[in-house]
Amino acid sequence: MGTSETTQLLAISGRPGILLVDDDESARELVSIQLEEQGHMTRMCASAEEALKRLRENFCPIVITDLHMPGMGGLGLCRELRARKWPGYTYIVMLTGNDHDHGVIAALEAGADDCLRKDSPPAEFKARLRVAERIVMLEYRLRRALEARARQAATDVLTGLPNRRSFDRQFNAEFKRARRFSEPLSVLLIDVDHFKHINDEHGHLVGDDVLRQLASTLKTKLPRQFDILARFGGEEFVAVLPHSDREAALLVAERLRSAVATTPITTSAGTLSITISVGIGHLSPRASVEPLTTHDLLDEADRCLYESKRQGRNRVTVQPPPEPRSLADVTL
Ligand code: GH3
Ligand code: MG
Ligand code: MG
Repeated sequence: MGTSETTQLLAISGRPGILLVDDDESARELVSIQLEEQGHMTRMCASAEEALKRLRENFCPIVITDLHMPGMGGLGLCRELRARKWPGYTYIVMLTGNDHDHGVIAALEAGADDCLRKDSPPAEFKARLRVAERIVMLEYRLRRALEARARQAATDVLTGLPNRRSFDRQFNAEFKRARRFSEPLSVLLIDVDHFKHINDEHGHLVGDDVLRQLASTLKTKLPRQFDILARFGGEEFVAVLPHSDREAALLVAERLRSAVATTPITTSAGTLSITISVGIGHLSPRASVEPLTTHDLLDEADRCLYESKRQGRNRVTVQPPPEPRSLADVTL
C-alpha cells in the first residue's frame, strides 16, 4: 500500500476525520456541534447507504452512526464496513436511544467498537472520542511503520534503487503484462568494466561512491516513468523497458553507455572515468512460439553482455532478430 493511501486517513489538521451518520437532522446538528467544539473535522450524511458511498470516495477513519435509520441502518453499516476492504481501520461508534442495553450487544456483534447513548453528557462523549482517536492514531502509526519497512526491504541501501527482490517482482509483472497484451519488452543487463581495478586501486569506499554516482547517471538517462532500473547485484544493474522493441532498446542502451563513458565521476580519490558493457534481452510480440520466461530473457541479456565483454567492453550487444522460419511467417 502506498503512502498516499495512508495520508488520506488524516484530515488536514493532522487529526482523524469523522463521518457522522444520522437520519435525524436535529440530532446530527447537536452531535456535530459537540464534535466541532472539540476541534474535529466532521462530515455528515443521513443514511448508511450514503455513508458507504461517501467513504468509498473519501475514506474517514472514525464513523459515528445512529442505530436506527431507514434502509440498511446502523447495524447494516457496521457489517458492510467490516466486510469490505478500506484504506485503514474504521473505528465505529454506535449511537443508541432508549433501547441502549439491547442495542449495545447487537452493535458490538455487528462490528461496532463502542456504543454511546445519544443523551450521554458531553464529557463522556468527549472522553470516548479520545479513545477512538487514540486507537486510530495507533493504527495509523503502525501502518506507516509497516510501509517504511516494506520500502526499506525493496530498496538497495547503497544506491537507493530497487533491489534484486523488488526487481524480480516488478519484472515478473511487466513480463506478464507484455505477454498478455502482445507488447514488446526489453531488458538491459549493465556491468561496470574492470570495476575490480577501482576497488583495488582506490579502496572499497571509493568503489561504493562510483556505484552510487553511476546509479544516478543511469537513472537520469532513463526518464520514462514506467522504465525500471534496479541494482542486479555487485557492480551490475538491470533496466526493464516496457513497450520497447529491439531498435528502441538498442538506442536506450547506447545512450546509457555513452553517458557513462563521458560523465566523469568525482570521488575523494580524484576524478575517475568508467565504462559499462550492456547486453539486451528482448521479448517480441511476433516472437516464435516457444514459451519464453523472465529467466530466458535475462539469460539472453547475459549472453549478450558476455559478448560485449569479449568484444572489448564499453559496448552494447543485442541478438539479431530470428530468421523467419518459412515463407508463411513473412509479413508482406
Ligand atoms: P569485468 O569488466 O569483466 O566486469 O571486470 P570487473 O572487475 O568489473 O568484474 P569482476 O566480477 O571481476 O569484479 C567485480 C567487482 O565488483 C568485485 C567486487 O568486489 C566489486 N563489488 C561488488 N559489489 C560491490 C559494492 O557494493 N561495492 C564495491 N565497492 N565493490 C563491489
Ligand atoms: Mg560483474
Ligand atoms: Mg564488471
